[in-house]
Amino acid sequence: MNPQLQSLLKVQRLDGRLELLRRELENRPKMHSAKQERLEDIIGKRQEILEMQKEIQIRIDRIELEGKSIDDKVADNQVKLGNATSNAEYQGFQAQIARYQSDREEVDEQLLEIWEEMEQAKALEKQADAAIAEQSSIVAEEKVELEKELESIREEARGIWAERDRARTEVPAELIGEYDGLFARYANRSIVPVDAGICGGCNMAINPQTRANLQGDGLVHCNNCRRLLYSG
Ligand SMILES: [Zn+2]
Repeated sequence: MNPQLQSLLKVQRLDGRLELLRRELENRPKMHSAKQERLEDIIGKRQEILEMQKEIQIRIDRIELEGKSIDDKVADNQVKLGNATSNAEYQGFQAQIARYQSDREEVDEQLLEIWEEMEQAKALEKQADAAIAEQSSIVAEEKVELEKELESIREEARGIWAERDRARTEVPAELIGEYDGLFARYANRSIVPVDAGICGGCNMAINPQTRANLQGDGLVHCNNCRRLLYSG
């Protein structure tokens, strides 16, 4: 094989490896993002729980206000009761007070129920806090792991990059330029073998002249796709 082509094949092999590593660097973090998404889910759920608590608190405030207004009415009627001038008036205020007190009991029952609801919502918040803490530590551990993986990939890439630069110096600039053009289009299928008269790149039969040229020592291009060829 043409020695320049041999060096160029090495460059292509290293470029191919670099491309793989580049894709790894891009895809690894995506593989890890599922756990991050789960964490964001739990944080979202906790936010919903806080909204629910706010809504419950609004109901509590409203019912407590209602209770206070009933208490005021009871107090007001008790003053009136004290100042009653007839038995009928006295009994009327007494009956009114009894009705208000029964309303007040209903309000208290409502308050008990809603405080129960609030307690449940607080318990859910605690559960969410615990889940967030646990998931955060999982995500953090994974981040450390991921960073290690990425660094080892980067280190390998740096080594290959240096090797590739050395290999490129062994190839004349003009040929490197041509190879870079082919690589932009065909990546690590820029220099391909010919097997049984078929170009390993475009899978078409090369013409007899190209086939004859392959027997010599010069550089040969596929007559169909212009890739650089060697005998497979
Ligand atoms: Zn071809």
